[in-house]
Amino acid sequence: MNIIVLNSGSNGNAVYVESPRSGAAVLLDCGISRRQIEVRLKVHGRYLQNVRGLFITHEHADHVRGVPVTAKMYRMPTFLTEATWRGLRMNRPHKGHRFIRSGETVKVEDISVQAFPKSHDAQDPVFFLVTIGELRFLYVTDLGVHNDEVARLLGEVDAALLESNYDEHMLNTGPYPEHLKERIRAPHGHLSNLQAMELIERHCNGRLHTLIFGHLSENNNTPEIVQREIDAVLARRPDFRPRIVIASRYEVGEVLSVG
Ligand SMILES: [Zn+2]
Ligand SMILES: [Zn+2]
Repeated sequence: MNIIVLNSGSNGNAVYVESPRSGAAVLLDCGISRRQIEVRLKVHGRYLQNVRGLFITHEHADHVRGVPVTAKMYRMPTFLTEATWRGLRMNRPHKGHRFIRSGETVKVEDISVQAFPKSHDAQDPVFFLVTIGELRFLYVTDLGVHNDEVARLLGEVDAALLESNYDEHMLNTGPYPEHLKERIRAPHGHLSNLQAMELIERHCNGRLHTLIFGHLSENNNTPEIVQREIDAVLARRPDFRPRIVIASRYEVGEVLSVG
């Protein structure tokens, strides 16, 4: 499978996942504009025409901003939970949406997408497992707290995008007001570097080929800190050597071929 992170962070999230065999693709979250999606896909010779569906994790603007225009212009189905749809106001797809339930698997051409529940301050938020042939990609951001299903799946996938939102020290000593710091740390908030590294160290194994860190905070994290922390994990775990990618808040990533 091919994965392209179009953007990752509180300013917008969208990840393109493609089957090299069929040429079909899906978009996981649609939190940047239709125009930006087009521009960023074109860098790699890809087009929204190949995308067969938008899969939405939850109703926060950084995950849905581009939904109405993209879905309308490309007559593209939007897959989301019913509560997420109700939680959307301005960003509702005008038609062609389909409800998914936690645990349900949706198949579009040769791409399967399964939704799982997660803890976050949204109506019925989910994370996704994408399967193409034998290959599996786990997409998890906006996760408030350790999740058993994420832990299990990290040991059973070929690629993963895991949130590594904030560095504890930067958040604690940074300029945010105390109530906002609390919200970020809460079980319905975001995953810290420490929490992400712990999940990886405990549950990943040699199967993991590509590990992407995403949804890094602009004010409470840096790519350098995340790199240093994963280097420390890898030094303790010589049994697995995934390709490490730190997704950008600002520009499109490389085409990541897995398998
Ligand atoms: Zn988010
Ligand atoms: Zn969110």
